[in-house]
Amino acid sequence: MKSWVEISTARLQENFRAIQSAAGAEVEVLAVVKANGYGHDAAICGEALVAAKAKWLGVSDVDEGARLRERLGEGSTRVLVMCGMELKDAAAMVKYALIPVVWTVEHVEAMERAAEAAGRKVEVHLEIDTGMSRQGVQVGAELVKVAERLAVSQWVQCEGVMSHLSSAEVAGSSVTGKQREMFEAGLVQVMSAGVQPELVHLGNSSAVDEGGTMEWVRATAKKLDAKAMVRTGLAVYGMCLEVEGGKGMLAEKLKPVMTWKANVIGVREIEAGTAVGYGATFIATQKMRIALVPVGYADGFRREASSGMGDGWVMIAGKKARVVGRVSMNLTTVDVTGMDVQVGSEVVLLGEGVSAEDHARWSGTIAYDIVCGVKGKFVSRG
Ligand SMILES: *Cc1c(COP(=O)(O)O)cnc(C)c1O
Repeated sequence: MKSWVEISTARLQENFRAIQSAAGAEVEVLAVVKANGYGHDAAICGEALVAAKAKWLGVSDVDEGARLRERLGEGSTRVLVMCGMELKDAAAMVKYALIPVVWTVEHVEAMERAAEAAGRKVEVHLEIDTGMSRQGVQVGAELVKVAERLAVSQWVQCEGVMSHLSSAEVAGSSVTGKQREMFEAGLVQVMSAGVQPELVHLGNSSAVDEGGTMEWVRATAKKLDAKAMVRTGLAVYGMCLEVEGGKGMLAEKLKPVMTWKANVIGVREIEAGTAVGYGATFIATQKMRIALVPVGYADGFRREASSGMGDGWVMIAGKKARVVGRVSMNLTTVDVTGMDVQVGSEVVLLGEGVSAEDHARWSGTIAYDIVCGVKGKFVSRG
């Protein structure tokens, strides 16, 4: 692997503070570092976030949580395991002081057994399915059953009640409206069962940027004598989906954290009529200079960036160098005609002048998908 990824921990911390101020001082901000910190290195980012006084980090599963806990130490921060609780995870949750998101009676009972075996009380957060049909207990009889089970548990405390929005980036969305109503109905059932959560949360980065939903979360939490929390991932790394019609509380204050780089490993001149790359999809129409970059789709530089497909580019010495021909597994050719480029020249694959959103547009996907796929050697740039 010949590319490297520079992580600006200073920007990461600034983004975290920007989120905190947009969400409101009374709101707890959980920074999501799942999927290896959205491809930014969870260890580097986790440490920087703890240094910025992040009280909560979110991971996807118990393995990620255990790795993070070993790196950060016990007591450094609280870690919420947000996705895919399985009964066999319970013992490790307790061992590594991880807090799982649960949604079935079986989850609660598995945590109870693990807590009792370890001789220490544990917390969980209960997820309510308000319309995404993924995780979470359905409002109604199922929810009542789980909440009542939590209410009588000696070992398991329901610290938080949460849900997740499908369309937070659409201001005034009727889908979000329905989810809010469903969440409110769920909260009533939770409270009637005798569970009093300390934290209530359902927003992501877009919810903070959009503004309206955050106001609602704050008000809802207050009514229950609980604290509102927000779970932000993409914004921590300096990106945000475009919110239409929202307040734009956040997006403009964010700065991308990742700069992905490589060095040019070859330069050649080709004559008009010369083919470049697999399928000979590109034929030079004039004399050109082509630089070879040791990165391809195996490294996360998407094949859709090929010329004639997404027509992607990289940046060399502050100038655009367009992809020529097809992106290969580990190699990409770019046009450096008329540019001062030699073997060893530094190439920015993603960073200033070429954003994750650009990559996403070429590839017909979203920035989340792009940054999660970046492979390289991670270095902290402070
Ligand atoms: C990933 C995730 C988030 C973060 O979403 P962003 O859009 O990146 O801010 C929040 N909540 C849950 C449950 C998640 O899985």
